[in-house]
Amino acid sequence: MTDEPQGDLIATLDDLVRSVQAMRSLGRRLSVREEKLVALAQARPKPRMRIMEQPPADDLRPQGDHTIAAPASLEAVRAALGDCRRCKLAGGRQHIVFGEGNPKAELMFIGEAPGADEDRQGRPFVGRAGQLLTKMIEAMGKTREDVYIANILKCRPPDNRDPQPDEVEMCEPFLLQQIRVIRPRVIVALGRIAVQTLLKDATPISRLRGRWHLYAGIRLMPTFHPAYLLRNAAGKKPAWEDLQQVMAELGWPLPNKKG
Ligand code: SF4
Repeated sequence: MTDEPQGDLIATLDDLVRSVQAMRSLGRRLSVREEKLVALAQARPKPRMRIMEQPPADDLRPQGDHTIAAPASLEAVRAALGDCRRCKLAGGRQHIVFGEGNPKAELMFIGEAPGADEDRQGRPFVGRAGQLLTKMIEAMGKTREDVYIANILKCRPPDNRDPQPDEVEMCEPFLLQQIRVIRPRVIVALGRIAVQTLLKDATPISRLRGRWHLYAGIRLMPTFHPAYLLRNAAGKKPAWEDLQQVMAELGWPLPNKKG
C-alpha cells in the first residue's frame, strides 16, 4: 500500500487547474463549486520522493534493514563478518563466536554473548551453562546438531559484563542475517539480557517468559538462561514448560515422562 497519489489522478488534477486558468484568462467567473474543486486540486499532496536503499547484490554488510536480500548462506554471512572490528569488543577477544548447528534448523537458540569458555573455543554455549543447554535440547528429543545456537554478540564482553547498546547495534545485524538464512520457525531467547535486548523491552524476564513474542517476524519464546538455572533450580520447571510450548508449536512429540 502506498500513500503517494497515483499518476492518473495527478494528471487529472493538473488538467483541471489548467482548464480553470484558461477560463479565468478568458474572463469567466467560476462558480463556488468550481472554486472548491480548484482549491482541492491545488492542495493535493505533493508526490514524495522515495529513497530506495539498494546495496549491491553482493554487498552483505548488514544495514539493519530487513528489506535487503537474504544472503545466500551462513558462509556468506561469516565471510561478510570477516575479522570484524566494528565494535570495541574486537580488541579483547580470542575468537569470534559465530554460531553453530543445523543451517536449516527449525529451532534457534539465542543467548547474549560468549563467555570465557566460548571465547577460548570459538563455539557458543560450551561451558557449564552450555552443557545444561545441551541437556535441555536433549530433553526435547533433539541434539545440538538439530538446532542452531548463536548469540547477539559474537565477541566476549570483558568480565562477562552486559552488552552495550553500541555493540548490539554493530553486531545484531549479523544475527539477523543468520536468521534470514536459517529461517527457523521458532527462536528461544535465553536469559534476561538476550530477551530484553532482542525484544527492546525492559519488562522483567519473569513476565516475558512463557509467552510468545515476535522477533524479525519469527515467533520467539523467552526463557531463563541455563547459567541462571544452574544457580536457581526452581527455574527449571518453568523453563521446561517454556520448552514444551516450543515443542508443541513445532509439532515435536513431547517425550514420555521418565519411567
Ligand atoms: S561483537 Fe560483533 S560487531 Fe563487535 S567486533 Fe565482535 S563480531 Fe564485530
